Amino acid sequence: MEDATRNTLLRSLPSIDELLSRPSLAPLLSSEPRPLVVEALRTAVETARARLIAGDPVGFDEADVHRALQTLKQPNLRKVLNATGVVLHTNLGRAPLSLAALARIAEVGAGYCNLELDLEEGERGSRYQPVIELLCRLTGAEDALVVNNCAASVLLAFSALAQGREAIVSRGELVEIGGGFRIPDVMRQSGARMIEVGTTNRTRLADFAEAIGPDTGLLVKVHRSNFALVGFTEEASTRELAGLAREKGIVLFEDLGSGALTALHAEGLTSEPTVATVVSAGADLVAFSGDKLLGGPQAGILVGRRGVIAALRKHPLNRALRIDKLTVAALEATLEAYRDGAEDLLPVRALLKQPRATLEARAQRLLEQLLAQQVDARLIVTTGQVGGGAMPLASLPSFACAIGGANAEALHQRLRAAQPPVVARIADGLLLLDVRCLRDDELSVVARAVAAAVPGS
Ligand SMILES: *Cc1c(COP(=O)(O)O)cnc(C)c1O
Repeated sequence: MEDATRNTLLRSLPSIDELLSRPSLAPLLSSEPRPLVVEALRTAVETARARLIAGDPVGFDEADVHRALQTLKQPNLRKVLNATGVVLHTNLGRAPLSLAALARIAEVGAGYCNLELDLEEGERGSRYQPVIELLCRLTGAEDALVVNNCAASVLLAFSALAQGREAIVSRGELVEIGGGFRIPDVMRQSGARMIEVGTTNRTRLADFAEAIGPDTGLLVKVHRSNFALVGFTEEASTRELAGLAREKGIVLFEDLGSGALTALHAEGLTSEPTVATVVSAGADLVAFSGDKLLGGPQAGILVGRRGVIAALRKHPLNRALRIDKLTVAALEATLEAYRDGAEDLLPVRALLKQPRATLEARAQRLLEQLLAQQVDARLIVTTGQVGGGAMPLASLPSFACAIGGANAEALHQRLRAAQPPVVARIADGLLLLDVRCLRDDELSVVARAVAAAVPGS
């Protein structure tokens, strides 16, 4: 384009006032909030200007206004399609909630509820009451408390039970959970003095016994949720530590992390200690997440002895870390599924337990839809992970449609910009669409998004 032509075109771009009085845009103004329309008009004019400067002669285009408006109106937090194959994906919100949990949130959130009202006595009640009984029943513990997440429950436990005192922990369990959550840092933050015992690979009961002194407040055991230690290893079991703790009159705290409430058997899954096993082995206090294997809302659940839970409940941090009514609602509905023996219907467990044949058939259907839209794809067998720092050695057999050829990173970026966004996985330069976490009715949406994103299909 000649400079003179371009300058003429740039000068002839419409003003916002001019656009606001255009009859063709009047319907938009009557149906959409005016400030958003004005913002969209500005964006569209800027888009046109940038195009002209880049040498593209297309000037102002009303389609740009509609696109800009759509972008402005769409929520920042929105649904995405999970084609990563990772069931508990922290970046994608971890556990999808059950319909029962969602219904309870809607019911309780839309109006008022007895969050802190004892309906029988008409007096102030505890917001945790709805879930305490269920948690005790499901874990065998005497009492329970729920805070914002498991990281918070660990901080609360250290603060309430070992502030200004010693907490003894194995060198093999000084872990980083992710997101910068490191046990030694949390311990420091709580004001507890960390006493490390044993070595990275081997820690014996005697190491704990020798470290116990008059200032010891806590024995700590941290579940290695997100990594495995194999080979020449040794660790003190919960039962052994519980015996020692009882003998010395010290509290044994176990950070279980993922916290399966019942055993989870499925192809490729490794076994995970259930909360009830750890409680019955004698841990005085156990912490676990609500939104990992349990399959509920984000929460940090603490179960244990009455006296220990009472000390946590009284600590000022408890008030700062408390959960809201929506979490209580969703957690209660999720726990009811366990009470009723229907936990395998919870989305997380159902996603983990899908038979190989189901996954293969779903991948086959996705493949057919991709091929029908001229996308060059092939079916491959994959191994997925549970995610969310749970079962690091699990290798879940799954199936994916692999797309090669194009630049996988660029394709992935375009897929993330789709409506709804599709999040996939890249391995060996291939874009993998794992079907484990995709519903059957989402396959055509994924196929269309891919067809639109693959150049030349
Ligand atoms: C995941 C995990 C945590 C942190 O749980 P959040 O609910 O994400 O705060 C703490 N400890 C262990 C052992 C974990 O696996």
